[in-house]
Amino acid sequence: MMDGEKPDTLESRYRAVMDDIADAARAASRNPADITTIVVTKFHPASLIRQLHALGHRDIGENRHQEAVAKHEELSDLDMTWHFIGQLQSNKARAVCEYASVIHSVDRMSLVGKLAAQPRPVDVFLEINLTDDPGRGGVLPDQLMEVADAVLEVDHLTLRGLMAVAPQHDDPARAFARVLDLQALLVARAPTATDLSMGMSGDYREAISCGATHLRIGTAITGKRPPAV
Ligand SMILES: *Cc1c(COP(=O)(O)O)cnc(C)c1O
Repeated sequence: MMDGEKPDTLESRYRAVMDDIADAARAASRNPADITTIVVTKFHPASLIRQLHALGHRDIGENRHQEAVAKHEELSDLDMTWHFIGQLQSNKARAVCEYASVIHSVDRMSLVGKLAAQPRPVDVFLEINLTDDPGRGGVLPDQLMEVADAVLEVDHLTLRGLMAVAPQHDDPARAFARVLDLQALLVARAPTATDLSMGMSGDYREAISCGATHLRIGTAITGKRPPAV
């Protein structure tokens, strides 16, 4: 938004980004209603999530269990959908499922095993590692099908699709194009796993034009994150 008269508030940033998302969707001949925007509130206090709820927003993303569980408890009066988007230790899987209904960062067989062993229904995105570093979060592309098959075998896990973070120094459109190649393989096996969780503050327009269904947007809406505690 170029209007210099507008105050820079959570509400003004939220409305500007949501308008921009709708514009980008229409520019890509897509229906804005087919895109879910998750506001990533990591490091911010629960009060910011309460403000977002008052603005009518319902999808929240958090990446650290300790922080997310505390905020969820503080906000138990609010109807919101909690998305877990960060690296998830297997021993936290059960606890995360107590508040998160969607996990975007499933990336290995042992984690699928833990999610299978807990009782709650959970929607699952498989995170793809688009870097050459196997130590980064995400399943390596050549292991994708094995992990997908493991999720498909579990009745209370719903495989929604793929999640990716574009590598920092890469062209996001190129990264997202790789995700689309992998999506074609996945959908051949799991025809309903068509969702794509990709696009952050710096690259959501490209993600929308590449077919993203779930954007994970932090700083463009929340402003700068406070330092980690
Ligand atoms: C923090 C985070 C985001 C949001 O990043 P911004 O650049 O602030 O929009 C998205 N996805 C993941 C996995 C994150 O950890």
